[in-house]
Amino acid sequence: MLAAKKALRDYSDWFGPYPYSTLSIVIPPAVGNGAGGMEYPTLVTGWSADQTTEGHGLERVIVHEIGHQFWYAMVASNEFEEAWLDEGFTSFAEDMVMQQEYDIRPNIPIQASYITSPEALNRYAWQYGSHGKYAENVYMRAKLVLLGIEKQIGGQDMIRVLKAYFTQWKFKHPNTLDFEQTLERVTKKSWKPYFDQFVYNASMEDFAVSSIHVQRVNQKGTTEYKSEVVIVKNGGSYGNVPIYFHFADGTNKQSVWNPTNNRVKYEFVYSSPIDWTVIDPDYSQVLENKHINNFMRTSIDVPTELRWNIGASKVIEMITRWLAW
Ligand SMILES: [Zn+2]
Repeated sequence: MLAAKKALRDYSDWFGPYPYSTLSIVIPPAVGNGAGGMEYPTLVTGWSADQTTEGHGLERVIVHEIGHQFWYAMVASNEFEEAWLDEGFTSFAEDMVMQQEYDIRPNIPIQASYITSPEALNRYAWQYGSHGKYAENVYMRAKLVLLGIEKQIGGQDMIRVLKAYFTQWKFKHPNTLDFEQTLERVTKKSWKPYFDQFVYNASMEDFAVSSIHVQRVNQKGTTEYKSEVVIVKNGGSYGNVPIYFHFADGTNKQSVWNPTNNRVKYEFVYSSPIDWTVIDPDYSQVLENKHINNFMRTSIDVPTELRWNIGASKVIEMITRWLAW
């Protein structure tokens, strides 16, 4: 009951008022769990009454189903033909409530790694082929796509977008294009490249450290190392991608790649060779589902007798240039 009140209050604050005087919550008996976790206008069902496990499973399902009062019931998109507009939006909104009210944050990198069969989001439900693929895309991948929008515009503007979409389309039947246009109107920019990749097509992001080459060079009598790192983009992309370079003497360098091309080469000439490189260690790219290739350690033939003089860390390093092709 408390979860229902919290959810109704939060959703009403963020999106717009819940206009009805009633909301029924049915907790089915253990034998009737097939009816659990379902939404109807002004009526939702939770999970089985005999659930004794700890955690917030019951709260989460109530929060989720009440989310559907907004995304499918009032903003009455077609849940069969564009299921992401209800399940994706509801999953996104559910996470917002669970975070605000219960301080439960989703593990986005782990959830993204579950996306193994990405498909376009505007497909009919029955075109996904299996329930697993349907759920993976219209719940999880759709939520990540919304999160990717939020990453670019910020949480406050995301609420503004959702409120504008709710206000314009409540008691009407919007489709994907209607949401895209609301988003563009509120943020005053085109989202076509983003939607073309991640909504209308099956793209995910996949950045990888392709190679690291270290070569000893002599500069004015001192030994230095030329380190070359090639980063590639195998999937889609949005925004800038942070890249960290760690050198053997402990120095860190950071760069930001705007991946308009599929490859970029970074070149450093420095008194110490690159030890390892990692792409996006803070997981700002929420649609990246293959993190395993984001990290590479240098395999080098640097003589072990070499001792790094960290005290003399006069940084002669330069990013000579970054080549893209
Ligand atoms: Zn749902």
